[in-house]
Amino acid sequence: MYIIMLGAPGSGKGTTAKVLAKEANLPHISTGDMFREQIKKDTKLGKLANTYISKGQLVPDEVTIDIVKDRLSWEDSKNGVILDGFPRTLEQAKALDEILMEQGKKVNVVPELIVPDDVIIDRILNRATCSNKECGAIYNTKFRPPKVEGICDICGSALVIRTDDNEQTIKSRLEVYRKNAKDLIDYYQEKGVLFKIEPEDPTADNASEQVVEKILEIMKKRK
Ligand code: ADP
Ligand code: ZN
Repeated sequence: MYIIMLGAPGSGKGTTAKVLAKEANLPHISTGDMFREQIKKDTKLGKLANTYISKGQLVPDEVTIDIVKDRLSWEDSKNGVILDGFPRTLEQAKALDEILMEQGKKVNVVPELIVPDDVIIDRILNRATCSNKECGAIYNTKFRPPKVEGICDICGSALVIRTDDNEQTIKSRLEVYRKNAKDLIDYYQEKGVLFKIEPEDPTADNASEQVVEKILEIMKKRK
């Protein structure tokens, strides 16, 4: 199954996608993570991506589509994937359809996570991520803090704060999301694969578990 997580920055896309990937035994593909990996390694692609990411702007479509196309050609992607942060523009969505069509596949389920703006901003400004790539656990230092400050509960690695999680960049990221989301939502709604998911209380401890449950139910019905 090919799943696309839609939702604003801070809507819980990444957290949900990670759990879902484990439950459904599908690879989790996050373009944001892929770019951050390249930035860390200081590659040419990383340098280019960083010029956009640091300003809260989108990395150009050609570059982004290329890395996803390559990733989808891996053996582990043949039975489906959970895409997190891609597609983000209509161009990317159309390119993805073409890539999948060539393999006789299509997008099956597109959950759209709906979270109020004040919760989103609060979450992003309190977000910390495990620095261990294999783990990648995401914490909210206010609502879901680690047991020991700055240390991952699961693997004991140091937690880091994303450099683009600051007040200036988040404004631009939310604007960019809203500008593109409408087209994407219409596109997938027309295909009959869009499902709006709204946690009853997005600040609840188990909000992300609730969201995962709902998506797993939809996936079962769509099989
Ligand atoms: P968030 O959803 O919190 O913004 P991501 O990790 O998905 O976090 O993305 C971080 C940044 O990486 C984005 O602001 C953007 O600059 C870049 N990026 C990620 N995915 C894409 C994409 N599909 N197209 C263009 N840029 C992207
Ligand atoms: Zn960890």
